[in-house]
Amino acid sequence: MSRFPAADPVPAARASLSPADFAAAVRVWVFDLDNTLYPPTSPIFDQIDRRMTAYIARFLKMEPADAFAVQKSYYRKYGTSLAGLMAEHGMEPEPFLSYVHDIDHSVIVPDPALAAAIRRLPGRAIVYTNGSAAHAEAVLARLGLAGVFEGVFDIQAAGYVPKPQGASYDRLIAAFGFDPAQAALIEDSLKNLPPAAARGMKTVWLSNVRSTAGTDLHDPADCDAEIEDLAAWLDAVLAACGKG
Ligand SMILES: [Mg+2]
Repeated sequence: MSRFPAADPVPAARASLSPADFAAAVRVWVFDLDNTLYPPTSPIFDQIDRRMTAYIARFLKMEPADAFAVQKSYYRKYGTSLAGLMAEHGMEPEPFLSYVHDIDHSVIVPDPALAAAIRRLPGRAIVYTNGSAAHAEAVLARLGLAGVFEGVFDIQAAGYVPKPQGASYDRLIAAFGFDPAQAALIEDSLKNLPPAAARGMKTVWLSNVRSTAGTDLHDPADCDAEIEDLAAWLDAVLAACGKG
């Protein structure tokens, strides 16, 4: 549940850092995947959500409505539904991940402006997702972002410890060997930003429809910048780098 009343869902964000601040300090750009590199209006996450419910209903032998309640309660408690199913039911992760990501990726629209902007960023670019690498590669291929990133840090690479659990970020930083003080995390889920900030990373909240209307709402003071259009914001960063 949101801790803010519905009438005033988003208090003034801190959002204190400008694109120039990011241009000056950041050399490792870490991007969330789902609902960040493609907009939440893409009918992708709803497909995954429905397949999760179906899998959980079969796995726990319950009605879909009850499975959906379990799915969401584990999401809130553990960061992902998968983490809760593993912790509380000893579920094997790989069959679940294969099933829930077996979706129609063709509905994703290529985004050449985003691809061009990410290619021109100074330094390194990494994808950090609570999903599987196979799903990430399928999404990136559809977006026209194949080959744009140095690598994908997926849930298997994280030892099945999801964002926002701190150990997941520690594994990301160790795996790619970067200085968090030179890195930024760009995410649509506000709850995933504070652990990055606690490790010295700068944080960017892509405040899209799903985040502001859904259950992800936290205190916007948890982010360094609040943006609505990722490609436009990256273009502003590039302009501040003299690459505009
Ligand atoms: Mg996301």
